[in-house]
Amino acid sequence: KNTTPVLTSTSFKDFPYKKIAEGKVRDLYEVDNNTLLFVASDRISAYDVIMGNGVPHKGAILTLLSAHWFKVLPTLVPNLRTHFLTLDLPGTSIPSSAASILANRSMQVRRLKIFPVEAIVRGYITGSAWKEYKLTQTVHNIPQPAGLIEASPFPSGPIYTPSTKAEAGQNDQNIHPSEAVTLVGEKYAKRIEDLAIAIYTAARDYAYERGIVIADSKFEFGLDEETDEVVLVDEVMTPDSSRFWPKDRYEAGSEQESYDKQFLRDWLTSNGLKGKEGVNMPEDIVRGTEEKYQDAFRLLTGKTWESVLAENL
Ligand code: ATP
Ligand code: MG
Repeated sequence: KNTTPVLTSTSFKDFPYKKIAEGKVRDLYEVDNNTLLFVASDRISAYDVIMGNGVPHKGAILTLLSAHWFKVLPTLVPNLRTHFLTLDLPGTSIPSSAASILANRSMQVRRLKIFPVEAIVRGYITGSAWKEYKLTQTVHNIPQPAGLIEASPFPSGPIYTPSTKAEAGQNDQNIHPSEAVTLVGEKYAKRIEDLAIAIYTAARDYAYERGIVIADSKFEFGLDEETDEVVLVDEVMTPDSSRFWPKDRYEAGSEQESYDKQFLRDWLTSNGLKGKEGVNMPEDIVRGTEEKYQDAFRLLTGKTWESVLAENL
């Protein structure tokens, strides 16, 4: 039995902070000039549109999984700075009704200027990269060796394949790394690329030891204007931002089953609902998706979702 309320939109009575942005999944509240309350809803998007109903616990799983990575990654990647501050709510009077809704699904982060690229790193050739490769033997216009097999690792290691950060309602466009230089500026482009590759590589190895192949991942970075440092922001290495494949069923040569939204995407495609706004997922798709998010969380953190809920009650 599941009695957890599913949160698809946030608006709190007598809330002390202003909502400054609504993403597809997260709502951002302004705590002060330098601090945001980053709230993950239970909304789920596929093919760039949001479903009508949500997935129980999804916002909390994304939040606590990201927090796990924000703790682990700086021990694996030298000089990594992140936007993470705390899972605690800000001290100012938050009504208890709001506090109980925000529990587990919010974190305070440093408010930064976000670089206008999605810093994607691909370790394995799949998805849009595989499609492009089959047509032109390139990935994001980067020439690739002949004879690559679907879902196999890139032979010379992970590659940096940025995309634009599209406005709401539009699709991100895959671009060549040289175009990212134009978007973020000569000064920061190399640092962003190096960090993205280093973070992906460290996380890929960490996850592989725990039974998950991270095929690719998308990062965002911000600028700390005081220190001129490039900072890892947003969510990190979750099933929403990455392709997770179960290691024990991994086999190159075909499309891979995954922990991420492939399950939902397949249901949408086979029912002719791909790209349609506000589709309501049936109960079994919701359950199946919830299980996938919990599986990924358990493998990566070593904690069952039930134990986390019991701990944080
Ligand atoms: P998608 O991830 O599918 O592209 P989205 O971009 O619409 O969805 P969400 O992930 O729902 O957005 O919300 C997060 C938003 O917050 C993004 O626009 C992201 O750029 C922004 N953001 C992340 N970290 C910070 C930060 N430290 N300071 C300011 N903005 C941030
Ligand atoms: Mg996002």
